[in-house]
Amino acid sequence: MKGVFPIDKLEALRTPLYYYDTRVLRDTLACIRTEAGRYENFVVHYAVKANANPKVLTIIRESGLGADCVSGGEIQAAIKAGFPAGRVVFAGVGKADWEINLGLDYDIACFNVESIPELEVINQLAAAKGKVARVAFRINPDVGAHTHANITTGLAENKFGIAMDDMERVIALARQMEHVRFIGLHFHIGSQILDMGDFVALCNRINELQDKLEAHRIRIEYVNVGGGLGIDYQHPNRQPVPDFKAYFKTYADHLKLRSYQTLHFELGRAVVGQCGSLIARVLYVKQGTKKQFAILDAGMTDLIRPALYQAYHKIENITSDAPVQTYDVVGPVCESSDVFGKAVDLNAVSRGDLIAIRSAGAYGEIMASQYNCRELPQGYLSDELV
Ligand SMILES: *Cc1c(COP(=O)(O)O)cnc(C)c1O
Repeated sequence: MKGVFPIDKLEALRTPLYYYDTRVLRDTLACIRTEAGRYENFVVHYAVKANANPKVLTIIRESGLGADCVSGGEIQAAIKAGFPAGRVVFAGVGKADWEINLGLDYDIACFNVESIPELEVINQLAAAKGKVARVAFRINPDVGAHTHANITTGLAENKFGIAMDDMERVIALARQMEHVRFIGLHFHIGSQILDMGDFVALCNRINELQDKLEAHRIRIEYVNVGGGLGIDYQHPNRQPVPDFKAYFKTYADHLKLRSYQTLHFELGRAVVGQCGSLIARVLYVKQGTKKQFAILDAGMTDLIRPALYQAYHKIENITSDAPVQTYDVVGPVCESSDVFGKAVDLNAVSRGDLIAIRSAGAYGEIMASQYNCRELPQGYLSDELV
């Protein structure tokens, strides 16, 4: 089964381009609202780093999600798209002074702090402005996620967060500072997680930490479990909306939330992954000695996930229904890793056919570069192409 695309409209546009199916995006957002809405204290933020296309951001903001940002630029993008500052949270291991000041000026909801030196700088910068910054500590829970090594973040060996053993010391430190207010804990164990057991492991770890805090009479109102829910890259048509029901239920069943606490989520990939496709044209079909290549006008500069993470994306010839042949699908960039897929079965391709590389809405357009002096791909909503 192939996806449905407005071929005539796409034919008229310069490729490569990103195509966002707004119906899939809206269905996804509606499902999040319904499934998270079953639980009174659940608050969902969108991780802006997955896709900051202004048109996509606006639709997400309209659905009522908050924004999780990891840079000053993302805070600016979120504010510009209309996210209220009171629903913006700011994470990241290396926040620069200007980025912290930006967050202070907007009075964002929370800084998710990843080290003691960062806490000290936030306290100083807030003092200079006569403000008090709300802070949560990102704790490294030493929980492994069964996903690609480059996208696990919650192991003791990763650069992210504060070690569990240091938690109480850091909290004590924060409580002595006048210009920060410690409100809670933040976690994020990795990305493209499909095994709910990984989230259960995180819940169990948080339960332990909560008991420890309670024993010390430390009360927190904010618990943030990050994002990480994966999508079905193999079957974008069969499963366009991720299983948010099971995801939120896992937290409801396993995390012992206190009645005065809110539980925050920061979903990126699961929100935007399936609505986007990279649309490319076939430039050449080249017969090699052992295989044939479909050479596209899109490359790793437009979608780097296959080169960076050996990620799989479903590839479809959306122009033709000719009998299937097997191709290595490659880009024009001067790097051997500029390959979208090897031994891919496609309806036989000819020069000029349009190719859709599916499930590219997350970490696609936003990671595009201009290597080889290439132009950045444009992004279009399906709403614009009717
Ligand atoms: C990347 C990131 C997210 C979103 O991750 P997804 O896997 O896209 O859901 C959430 N929180 C933090 C802190 C992140 O760095």
